Amino acid sequence: MEAKAKQINLRDIIANYPDFPKQGILFRDINPVFKRNDALNYIADEFYRIYNKSKVDMVAGIESRGFIIATALALRFGSGILMIRKAGKLPGRTLKKSYDIEYGTAIMEIQQNAVDKGNNILIADDLIATGGTAEAAAQLIKELGCNVAGFAFIIELSDLKGADRLRKMGYNVESLVTFHGD
Ligand code: AMP
Repeated sequence: MEAKAKQINLRDIIANYPDFPKQGILFRDINPVFKRNDALNYIADEFYRIYNKSKVDMVAGIESRGFIIATALALRFGSGILMIRKAGKLPGRTLKKSYDIEYGTAIMEIQQNAVDKGNNILIADDLIATGGTAEAAAQLIKELGCNVAGFAFIIELSDLKGADRLRKMGYNVESLVTFHGD
């Protein structure tokens, strides 16, 4: 039988910075979690427990905190990772997807040779708010002929309803800590 992972209270480890990067935003800082080996192991164990029955061929990390989470998960799943980046940073043939942010639009990009067609991809990021970033990432994965096995977020901001929106679209969305209200 698998050893049970040590329980870690991520909620208490995540740091909160009011009015960062601008007035009115409560920034949830994941860096104190990344600092701890036991917390990284806990995250990897939890998502492995949740998703090991789904066939995960690769883990995709969303720039930039998602890269760190994707790597920790890939080591558990025995897979590689791929990067979904902000536009203009990846060489070679790429696909781009624009998505809405608070004021205006942003663009995510993926290398066309990052995955093999038909692969099942788990998408990782630190936090889901409105879900715009995650949805753009999923669209890129699908446009490359792959399936989205699910999403792995450390934090879900439930009031912004991004996770619910993705769930309603049929995606598996899992988060380890949900913040309601502020
Ligand atoms: P969204 O597209 O609205 O779901 O925003 C998700 C992206 O923005 C993630 O990559 C997060 O890292 C970042 N983000 C959004 N809101 C916050 C917040 N309150 N604290 C920290 N990061 C955030």
